[in-house]
Amino acid sequence: MTKLLDLIGLIYSIVLGAVITSFTNVVGLRVPQKQSIVTPRSHCPSCGHVLSAWELVPVFGYLFLRGKCRGCGGRIAPTYPLFELLGAIGYGYSFWLYGFSGTTLLAFVFLSTLLALAMSDLSTMLVPNVILLYTAPVLLALAYVSGATWWGPLAGALLGFSFLATVFFVSKGGLGAGDVKLFTVIGLVLGPRDVLVALFLASLIGAVVGLALIGLKRIGRKQPIPFVPSIALGTMLTFWFSERFFDWYFDLL
Ligand SMILES: [Zn+2]
Repeated sequence: MTKLLDLIGLIYSIVLGAVITSFTNVVGLRVPQKQSIVTPRSHCPSCGHVLSAWELVPVFGYLFLRGKCRGCGGRIAPTYPLFELLGAIGYGYSFWLYGFSGTTLLAFVFLSTLLALAMSDLSTMLVPNVILLYTAPVLLALAYVSGATWWGPLAGALLGFSFLATVFFVSKGGLGAGDVKLFTVIGLVLGPRDVLVALFLASLIGAVVGLALIGLKRIGRKQPIPFVPSIALGTMLTFWFSERFFDWYFDLL
C-alpha cells in the first residue's frame, strides 16, 4: 500500500512540477515587464496566435508543435519546455528523496522560485523584488517546518547578504543588486554552511557557462551573462546533495 501511495505521489509530483513550471515561465516573462500574469492569455509574441489548451500542455505541446508556432511558423524558444522538464524532474526527485514531508514542499517552492527568477533573468536580465517578497516568508516558514534550527535561516541570510554585498561593492557592477537579494533568500533556506557551498557551485557553473559561450562565439567578452540560471542550478544541487556529500566526506576522514 505504501509503495502504491509513493508511486502515486511521485507521478503526481512530476506532473505538478511541469504544470507549475509552465506557470513560473509566464511569471518570469511577464512580472519583470510589469504585465499581468493572468491576462492576456498565452500567445505567440510574433503573430499573436492565442495558444489553445493542448498547445499549452507542458513539454508535449512543444513537441507536438515541433517547436514552431501554429499561426506563423515562428520558432518557439526551447527554454520553455526545457524549464518545464527541469521542473518536472526537480519535483519528482525531491519527492523521491523526501517523500510526503515539509522538506518536499520546501524543495518545490524553492525550485519554482529559482526557475521563475532564472526565466526572468534570461528574458530581461532582471531579478524582480516582488517575486522574492512573496516567496521569502513562505520559504522561511517551510524551512522551520522541515527542521531548521531557529538561528540557521537567520545566520544563512546574514552570511549570504554580507558576502554578496561585499562582492557587489568591490566589483562595482560585476554583480547585480538582485543577486545580493537572491542570495539573502537562498541563505534563509540553506543556512550558513550551505549558502557558501551554493555560492561556490554557482560561481563555478557561471564561469564554465561563460567560458563555453565565449568559446562558442555565442557572446562577446564584455557582454553580461545572466547569472541566475547558474545560481539556481548550484543552489538546487546544494539543496539535494550537500548533506550527503558532507556525510560521505567526513566518513573518509
Ligand atoms: Zn506565431
